[in-house]
Amino acid sequence: MASPSSTRIDLDGNPIKPLTICMIGAGGFIGSHLCEKLMSETSHKVLALDVYNDKIKHLLEPESLPWNGRIHFHRLNIKNDSRLEGLIKMADLVINLAAICTPADYNTRPLDTIYSNFIDALPVVKYCSETNKRLIHFSTCEVYGKTIGSYLPKDSPLRQDPAYYMLKEDVSPCIFGSIEKQRWSYACAKQLIERLVYAEGAENGLEFTIVRPFNWIGPRMDFIPGIDGPSEGVPRVLACFSNNLLRGEPLKLVDGGESQRTFVYIKDAIEAVLLMIENPARANGHIFNVGNPNNEVTVRQLAEMMIQVK
Ligand code: NAD
Repeated sequence: MASPSSTRIDLDGNPIKPLTICMIGAGGFIGSHLCEKLMSETSHKVLALDVYNDKIKHLLEPESLPWNGRIHFHRLNIKNDSRLEGLIKMADLVINLAAICTPADYNTRPLDTIYSNFIDALPVVKYCSETNKRLIHFSTCEVYGKTIGSYLPKDSPLRQDPAYYMLKEDVSPCIFGSIEKQRWSYACAKQLIERLVYAEGAENGLEFTIVRPFNWIGPRMDFIPGIDGPSEGVPRVLACFSNNLLRGEPLKLVDGGESQRTFVYIKDAIEAVLLMIENPARANGHIFNVGNPNNEVTVRQLAEMMIQVK
């Protein structure tokens, strides 16, 4: 691990200047790992904004920690807090991670999902554009929607043809479910904010990078209902299965568990984000899919693996 005091070098061999980063949603899963990385390996400063700080408490206390003074927590809700603009102005770089992003919420809280992923992100994009701040915005792999193959009959041989299930960035049509299928509210809101960020770049010169995580997993990613989260809550698939296993319940597969996921360990994904942070000339204007295509399983296979390692 590099010491924060040693000079960091970018991919083009130039020394990296210490940055002040305004990280919105810093108290969440990805934010907590990114803050850890920035504190332990770099000299960058973090203005950490979130409603909660439980997942980064270990970085804030005690004051004797070696990075004391380099991370400051600001408890605020970006929906309605006038401090947001001032904090963005203080930064060299803004990273927006704040979102409602638990699949169970997309059906049950579609309004909150749309507001959180689109409306609440608007002022962040606007302030960055107006004050010439670089923005790294977190989107999702779900912006790709459904594959054509998913509409074919289950026994169609075309399902095995990559042309029907591999998405090509500039060519594949973008297929979302109908308006009544509210689980698409998340993907739609994320896609619209991506388009807005891109348009701010094209029309007003906003320096931006968009990150699309493909199922990053690791410690602090989720909650076990009734243990470290609401008992009526439904977390993401990995925590759902862990919860079932802890309670000795059967693992519930949606649609037979045929959907596929690629998983990436959070610390590997954070390496990629740090490269984006420290290489603006290479990252600006780009969208990065961060995933591991070699680590793909069906949800059924995931369930079977988790039962084996229990
Ligand atoms: P998370 O829920 O753990 O973190 C989000 C954080 O944002 C939470 O701490 C929450 O309190 C905060 N937040 C939400 N609304 C806020 C508001 N109005 N004001 C202040 N803080 C607010 O989620 P995560 O897994 O860390 O994901 C971060 C980003 O990455 C999200 O935009 C998400 O859509 C995207 N993403 C993550 C994954 C993944 O694999 N974890 C996959 C796809 C997309």
